[in-house]
Amino acid sequence: MTDKDRVELKKKIIAEITKSEKDIIEIEKLTQPITPENSIGRVSRMDAINNKSVMEAALRTKKSKLTKLRVALIKVDEKDFGLCAFCKRPIQALRLMYMPESTRCVRCASR
Ligand SMILES: [Zn+2]
Repeated sequence: MTDKDRVELKKKIIAEITKSEKDIIEIEKLTQPITPENSIGRVSRMDAINNKSVMEAALRTKKSKLTKLRVALIKVDEKDFGLCAFCKRPIQALRLMYMPESTRCVRCASR
């Protein structure tokens, strides 16, 4: 990985972290407890409960991605950043740009 790639990647990671943090705040707003005194009908209440579990799953995914991005941001300056954790070969630059939190190359990730 060249220094230029590293700088680009760092920017990308920071942008992704900012975006993830915003998404998490938005989703958290949508997963507020459903109070019984809400004036919604029974059917829409069921909908709300279903949506809530979908949102909670989305929230877990987002939070785990955010954690990985933060780790990537710490590691981006290390010499072996961008090497596959499994086969130790460089991870494809495009893959890193698309998913900076990747720790495996395409081949090892699909195993
Ligand atoms: Zn690999």
